[in-house]
Amino acid sequence: MTPVGMTTLVPIEVLFAASCQPLDMNNVFIANPRSQHFIEQAELAGFPDTSCAWLKGIYGAMLAHPEIETIVGVTVGDCSDTHVLMEYVERLGRRVVPFAYVRERLGEEIEALMRHFDVSWAEVHEAHQRLQRVRRLVWNIDDATWQPGSGVAGWDNHYYQVCCSDMGGDMETFAPRVRAFEPQQEPINPAGVRLGILGVPAIFAEDLYRYLETHCGAKVVFNETQRQFSLPFECDMVEQYARFTYPYGTKVRLADIQTELRRRDIHGLIHYTQAFCFRELTDALIREDLDRPILTITGNTEKRLSAQLKTRLEAFVDLLERRRAAPAGGAAAPAAGNTGSAA
Ligand code: SF4
Repeated sequence: MTPVGMTTLVPIEVLFAASCQPLDMNNVFIANPRSQHFIEQAELAGFPDTSCAWLKGIYGAMLAHPEIETIVGVTVGDCSDTHVLMEYVERLGRRVVPFAYVRERLGEEIEALMRHFDVSWAEVHEAHQRLQRVRRLVWNIDDATWQPGSGVAGWDNHYYQVCCSDMGGDMETFAPRVRAFEPQQEPINPAGVRLGILGVPAIFAEDLYRYLETHCGAKVVFNETQRQFSLPFECDMVEQYARFTYPYGTKVRLADIQTELRRRDIHGLIHYTQAFCFRELTDALIREDLDRPILTITGNTEKRLSAQLKTRLEAFVDLLERRRAAPAGGAAAPAAGNTGSAA
């Protein structure tokens, strides 16, 4: 299979139909034990300190994988800096295929991608059916995560859903791995506060979930963006990518978050923002519309939580515990809303 990089989830049905191996370069970057080296390589190539670590990581991962000769760059609906990133990648002699998430002409955008990869709708629909079978397995893990007494850890929920952006490059080997997943036998903090995580996946995700669930006694029951990568909608393929909230702005995202807050009985939210990302600007919009306490945390290049962040997470979970314990109308803890921002 010919490897094809992607800057985020694109209609991977097209790539699978073309017998290519889709690789979400974010996953390639973060899964590599030398991910810090990728960041350094990008900085040596000219990326400033004040650019996002995910962007630098994607570039470093492209450098480390010369066999990836083509990358699909999402030019509308993902990152404001993708255009420049693609110029850097073109300078490496790689082919850049643009893709734009514009709802009104999503079918045409998908057809343009199909022309690049020379596949028909029949082949794409067949790949869609195969992908839906794998996605359903991941939806089941997500559903199990928020049930009472769940043994599905927040990290596992994050991992399997985030992998859906490229299915690990091969849906046929990813599917049995998902089927083999076993939740922990013991419920995870069944009486603890129930948290949702908003925003782009955290650069220190593994440490974050472990700390919240093994040290703070909380239970993560919702991962907003990661869940979106699993396209949790049973419908026609074009509609499915139109319902994917991540590319379409804060208002669309908020509607999805509101539904899940109620459905999953979430007590508080952690909004992860990435340093130097334009999406940091959405924090105020998110805070304005949601009626749960929100802690905003920011990561840059470190894959481990700092001591300061650990303290803030612990204090936030403690605040939520006290709010739950307070009698109705009591004043044991601050009202819902702002609980601080920036790491
Ligand atoms: S975190 Fe923000 S700036 Fe970084 S790649 Fe993602 S969208 Fe772009």
